[in-house]
Amino acid sequence: MKPERLDKLLAAQSTISRKDVKGLVRKGLVSVNGVVVKSADLKIDIQKDKVSLCGEPVTLTKYSYIMMNKPAGVVSATRDGREKTVVDLVPEYLLRDGLFPAGRLDKDTVGFMLITNDGDFAHRILSPKNHVPKTYVAQLDQPIDQDIISKFEEGFALDVKTNCKPASLKIIETGERELVEVILVEGMYHQIKRMFEHFGRKVVHLKRIRMGALYLDEKLEPGECRELTQDELRKIT
Ligand code: URA
Repeated sequence: MKPERLDKLLAAQSTISRKDVKGLVRKGLVSVNGVVVKSADLKIDIQKDKVSLCGEPVTLTKYSYIMMNKPAGVVSATRDGREKTVVDLVPEYLLRDGLFPAGRLDKDTVGFMLITNDGDFAHRILSPKNHVPKTYVAQLDQPIDQDIISKFEEGFALDVKTNCKPASLKIIETGERELVEVILVEGMYHQIKRMFEHFGRKVVHLKRIRMGALYLDEKLEPGECRELTQDELRKIT
């Protein structure tokens, strides 16, 4: 990995903004390899250089792991010529080279989106072989019955080419516009919408609330994001 600016690296891995990093540098509170830094744009090699902040060593990693509460109306892509993407919503202080969404949510689906620049991590989370469950809350246009719940639990063929693995389906709130919870261990294109469509139901709202052991942070407003803590990162992988 090529050397990167100290202020960019530090800001990307803490809650301190780049501006605040500059202030800390001016006060002589940042050192690299034991030498007080004079300029926040010093280039750092994270594999070799030892950085400390206010006397405490800081571990710099090249990877970034961001939890976003995806709003409706943005696409799960890195860049798109026409549409706003989830990566466009990442604030500057969290931006790192190579960020991409780990998995896709439809443009109108909201909720838990992971954004990272660690390809192996994304693969571990997304590969159906690893059975990392993803939990969704869906609102339907009509109630469901026990027969549909059993079909979800057994797994079924969507069409001649597409088999859905067993999935959990639970009613959370009964009524005309029923609220249900679905847990999938795979993520095929429009999967939940297509699974309900198969039984004549339309998904009118869809939110992902959980990936593996991690719930979407309820403090995040739609469009907001934050870095995963080390603890959360351990939990999800
Ligand atoms: N299933 C869908 O149909 N859409 C999503 O965005 C995610 C799962």
